[in-house]
Amino acid sequence: MNLLMPRSTYDPLSVKLPTVSRECYDETVFHLIEQLRRDSERSEHLFFSEIGKFKHGGATYAIPRFFFRGPGVQDEPVRIGIFAAIHGDEPETAHAALEFLRRLLEEPERARGYELYVYPVCNPTGVENNTRHSHSGKDLNREFWKGSAEPEVYYLERELGVLLFQGVIALHADDTTSGVYAYVRGATLTEALARPAIKAAEAFLPRAKELIIDGFNAKDALIHGQCFDGVLSNPVELKPAPFELIFETPQEEPFELQVQATVAALDSILEEYRPFLAFGQNL
Ligand SMILES: [Zn+2]
Repeated sequence: MNLLMPRSTYDPLSVKLPTVSRECYDETVFHLIEQLRRDSERSEHLFFSEIGKFKHGGATYAIPRFFFRGPGVQDEPVRIGIFAAIHGDEPETAHAALEFLRRLLEEPERARGYELYVYPVCNPTGVENNTRHSHSGKDLNREFWKGSAEPEVYYLERELGVLLFQGVIALHADDTTSGVYAYVRGATLTEALARPAIKAAEAFLPRAKELIIDGFNAKDALIHGQCFDGVLSNPVELKPAPFELIFETPQEEPFELQVQATVAALDSILEEYRPFLAFGQNL
């Protein structure tokens, strides 16, 4: 299936986030991407491309990328990468990334000073099949920076290696926790971004109460430093260290609330990071 070709004929304009059902989420994701792609043709801020293609089962798949150039970007842009649906059975994250972009189109000022690279579907075959793993049976989020042969990982590593983001945000949905939480990694300022992001998300969903999440110690819904090996991240050698944040929503909660909570967290991160920009990058 070509990612950009809607698989049915229903009117994409009829797609409304609050009524999305889990059963048709995959088609809805593709329709939303197509809709935003069309909107990008009329926008001076939003641009669409595909970062790589691969074949599986006779079909061609692509990893879509939206680039949003905020107003007031100077010679040295601040680049943030936002990655969703590396686990194919977490469509909430793809919807959240797309809804975040849709609102930015309406209100570009929210991205003032930023260049945002948004990857709403990092695992297209997994999203199509509603599986955590890709078609190859691999958990792509354990394959980074270890010479993986998975094409999705190859293309995403190339983006990370070339664009050298000052911030990397990975979006996930977790069906084992009671609320929103985040992994805090990279630059020390990450925590200063994560705390307000969790608070912003709390307008929609509670924060996770667990003291142990995924086997790691959690405090105030934050997990510091630790994470699984091979998760999507910046190349290890970057200096100064970029901020890296993995934001997770409780997947048992309503789909729409997870979308709203994630968008609120992303907005918060842009807002909170902006003062740091004014004082330069050496933080
Ligand atoms: Zn996940």
